[in-house]
Amino acid sequence: MRTWGTEVSVADEAGSRAHFDALARRLPAVPSAYHPSGALPFTGLLALLVGGALGAVLGAATGLVLAAVSLGLFSLMALLIAVIAACGFVACITLVWGLGVAVVGGGLTFGGLGWVAAWTTARVGKLGKNRNVTAAVVIAFAATFVAWSVVASVPPIVASFVPPSSDDFSLNGLVHIFGDYGWFHVVVLIVGLLFAFVMAFVGAEDEVKSQTFCEPCGAFMTTKRLPAMSLVVAEQVARSLAVRDMIAIVDVLASDTGSDVEPTLHRCARCGAGYLDGRLWAHAKYVDSKGDKIVDRDWLAISTQLRPEHALPLSRLPDRKD
Ligand SMILES: [Zn+2]
Repeated sequence: MRTWGTEVSVADEAGSRAHFDALARRLPAVPSAYHPSGALPFTGLLALLVGGALGAVLGAATGLVLAAVSLGLFSLMALLIAVIAACGFVACITLVWGLGVAVVGGGLTFGGLGWVAAWTTARVGKLGKNRNVTAAVVIAFAATFVAWSVVASVPPIVASFVPPSSDDFSLNGLVHIFGDYGWFHVVVLIVGLLFAFVMAFVGAEDEVKSQTFCEPCGAFMTTKRLPAMSLVVAEQVARSLAVRDMIAIVDVLASDTGSDVEPTLHRCARCGAGYLDGRLWAHAKYVDSKGDKIVDRDWLAISTQLRPEHALPLSRLPDRKD
C-alpha cells in the first residue's frame, strides 16, 4: 500500500495551519464535478432495500465484533486497575486509559456499525443503478437503526443469563456493569446512535457519489488509477486542464512523480466521456508538550468533466502499480 502525502516538519500548531493554507493556495479544494443525477429507478429502490436488509445484518455483526474487542480491552484495563488498587494505589493515568479505551471502543462500535450498514446499502443499490443520494441515506438510516437495536439489546440479554456478582471486576460483575441498563447506558446508547447516523450519512453519500454514472448511456463508468503526482506536477496538470491541453497532461502523467496527489479517471466504456479527479494528501508534524503530533488533511484538488476526446488519451496511460 502506498503512503499518500508528504510529511512536513513544522514548529507548532500554527505552523501546521500555515502549511495547509500554503498548499490550499497552490491547489485549492474544488467541488466534485460529478453529481449523481438523483435518478431512482424501481430496480434501484429494490436494490437499496435488499442492501438495507443486508446492511442491517452486517452492521449489527460489525458492531458486535467491535464491541466484543473493545470490551475485551476494557476488561483487561479493569483487571489492571483492580490489581493496582489491590496494591494500594490507582494511578490516574490508568483510569484515563480505561476511559479512553471505552470512548474509542464505543466510537468504533457505533461508527463502524453505521458505516458498514450504509456502505452495504449503497453498494447493493448500485446493482439496481441507484443514483439517488437521499434514498440511499434514508434506507441506510433504517438499516443503521436496526443494527443499533440488535447491538443495544445484546448486553441485557447476556446479563439475564449470568448470575450477578458482588465483585465488579469479575467477569460476571463486568457483564452486569454493561448489561444492567441505567440512565448512563441510555445516554451512551443515544449518543452512539447519533454517531452511527453521522457515519451512515457519510458512508452512503460518499459511496453513491463515487459511483460515477453516464446518464446518456445508462451505464456506470469504469475507474482507472492513474500514476501518482507530485505537488508540482499536479499544479501543471491543473493548469493544463483549464485549457484542455491533454498532450501536456499525458506527458507529465506518464510516470509516477510523487505521492502528493492521487488521480483517478472515471470513463464510460460506451461513449468515452468521463471525469478526472485528484485528491491531495498532506501531513504536518510538530512536537508539543505532549510529544509528537501529526495532523493529516486531504481534499479534492482536481475534479473536471471530460469529453470523449479528452478522456481517451488519459485512458491509454499506464495503471498505477500500488
Ligand atoms: Zn457514456
